[in-house]
Amino acid sequence: MMNIIDIKDWGLGLSEHVLIAGPCSAESPQQIETIAKGLKGSPVELFRAGVWKPRTRPGSFEGVGAEALEWLQIAKDILNVPVTVEVAKTEHVDAALKAGVDVLWIGARTTVNPFSVQEICEALKGTDIPVMVKNPINPDLQLWLGAFERLNKVGIKKVAGIHRGFSDPYEKRYRNKPEWSLPIHLKRMIPGISVICDPSHIAGAREIIGAVSQRAINFGLDGLMIETHHDPDKAWSDAKQQITPDTLKIIYESLIFRKNVDEHPEMLNELEQFRQKIDLLDAQLLELFAERFKVIEQVGDYKREHNLAVYQPSRWEEVMESRIQDGLRKNMTEKFMKSLLFAIHEESVKKQEAQLKETRPLTKA
Ligand code: PEP
Ligand code: MN
Repeated sequence: MMNIIDIKDWGLGLSEHVLIAGPCSAESPQQIETIAKGLKGSPVELFRAGVWKPRTRPGSFEGVGAEALEWLQIAKDILNVPVTVEVAKTEHVDAALKAGVDVLWIGARTTVNPFSVQEICEALKGTDIPVMVKNPINPDLQLWLGAFERLNKVGIKKVAGIHRGFSDPYEKRYRNKPEWSLPIHLKRMIPGISVICDPSHIAGAREIIGAVSQRAINFGLDGLMIETHHDPDKAWSDAKQQITPDTLKIIYESLIFRKNVDEHPEMLNELEQFRQKIDLLDAQLLELFAERFKVIEQVGDYKREHNLAVYQPSRWEEVMESRIQDGLRKNMTEKFMKSLLFAIHEESVKKQEAQLKETRPLTKA
């Protein structure tokens, strides 16, 4: 069991819907000043800026380096909020701690590498600075979880996750495809952890930052980290996905934050009636599934006796086609019907394969 301190209790005045904003990269003291001034009057609670930039290919702007850490004080003075930077190595951690950075984050390209995460953890020993961990580039929950376990082992309790999407070569809409079930699983595996969303790196394009932000809120994530630049097109990194402080204010105002029922006991009572109905329906569904699998086993016996293959393609095609059509008529999506049918089919094939391996005698010759 991990020992976690929630974002609200980091002692930095961060709320349950934390907004983190600031440029992808710190470029100059003037740039930090202009962006911070633009953000005045916005609900920003934590200012971000990349100082060391992990770039996919060499030759692109790799960040100003430690020198830029001092410029963050400008944003702190203007906005009166804490600041955060990305760290990937021991030297980064040492320099950031020395410069009085309030929160650190570990980037997606670092979370994938347990050696790097461990190196950062060693450098953090003896401190209690909050650390946010972005999901690894690939949708591997264990790697993400592992980073939190390593941090916890060196005594870092103030942690949070950042969902920034996953690399997928077939994905066209997003730069990094969101996989909303992963942050939800992470929250289940580390009770009490806050997971915020980085719509900028998910979207890769400023036009859909608002839509991705709203989805993150709908899925119950705990805040947003949005890249903000006074002149996005001229930004030295991630130009296409950065938005101006004014656009950030407009997007933030358009977001709809939903109430959490746990904080509204009167609604919980009303919801309870529906929830009981759902519990009953789920129990009935499971009974039906159990019955269906019993028939599957009878079919399995028959196939074993007659030496028939477990997988019969024509039957499977027919089941898929007719059930999907039926599902569509009942207002379910094709995607849902396909995953449901695949799950049922996989379980059925497994059961029948196990039957084929049985050594009990056949009932009929
Ligand atoms: C960033 O936040 O600028 C960044 C490099 O993000 P990621 O690690 O998610 O790619
Ligand atoms: Mn960036």
